[in-house]
Formats: sequence, structure tokens, C-alpha cells
Amino acid sequence: MSDCLDPARLATQGARLEGEFPVGVLARIQDVSPEASGPVRYDLRFMRDPAGAIRLEVRVAAQLQLRCERCLEPMPWDVRSETVVAVVFSDDQAREVAGDLEPLVADAEGRLSLRALVEDEILMALPLAPVHEHPCGRQVQEHHPEMVAAEAAEDHPFAALAALKKSY
Ligand SMILES: [Zn+2]
Repeated sequence: MSDCLDPARLATQGARLEGEFPVGVLARIQDVSPEASGPVRYDLRFMRDPAGAIRLEVRVAAQLQLRCERCLEPMPWDVRSETVVAVVFSDDQAREVAGDLEPLVADAEGRLSLRALVEDEILMALPLAPVHEHPCGRQVQEHHPEMVAAEAAEDHPFAALAALKKSY
């Protein structure tokens, strides 16, 4: 299937596009999850609201391998994301999008890239600082004492300061 979507036509048709592609084709996902190898599944539904504006329901699912920021070991991460975006054709239109809808600006020809929009959806669904659910902090203390100090500083700035003074 072509990567190039015509949202105006698809919305008028009320089209639904489902499919998958290998995560390897998404360069920005490879950057954050080089070990990921499975498929990325997508389910897109185009529609028009009563006023004729284009709405797009985006669902994506993928399994990635992130790196735990506490122990730096790999951790599997299931991405399951679902959003509704407002497809618009200019930055001016994007500013007029109301409520909790995210605007998605089509290119100069009024087209959207399937891969780019799926990739954006995944990236927005990723945690800023992924950490294991189970306690894994002990290894950090052994290998990365400065990270522990920084973390403690957020909660107890003076305690962390005291700890730093003691160790120097
Ligand atoms: Zn961990």
C-alpha cells in the first residue's frame, strides 16, 4: 500500500485502513528502540464531522524494547495508543482546532504520510523516562551513583546536598 494518503477523499468515503509494517522502516523508532523487530499495526478511520471537518482516529500497536533509565537494562514496552486528530491543511487552520483535538497538518499537496503519522503516534505514546515496574535500583547504586544523587535531589534537595558533601 502506498505511504501517501489523501485525507480529504478518505474522509468523504469514511474509509478505514488497517495493516502493519515492520518497525524497521520507522527510522525515529529505531533511534529509541534499536532492538525492536516486530510489526507495527495500525488502524485508521477517516470521517467528517457534521461541519465537514476531517477527523482521523488513529490506533497503533507495537512492541518495542526501551532501556530502563534506572538500571539501564532493556525492557519490553507495549505501545497501545488511540487518538483522534483533526486533519487540517494550513497552520492557520491548525490554530483554530478547538477542544482536546490535536491538529495534524497535511503537506502542501493535501496529503499525509502513513508511516510518519503512525511513527508520531508511537513516539507520543512513549514514556519520557521508562523504568521497570519491579525494583531495579540497586544496580544503579553500584554503577551510577550520580544518578541516584540527582534523583534524591528532586525529592529532598538538602538531604542530597548533605550526601554529596559527605562523599567529597
Ligand atoms: Zn530497570
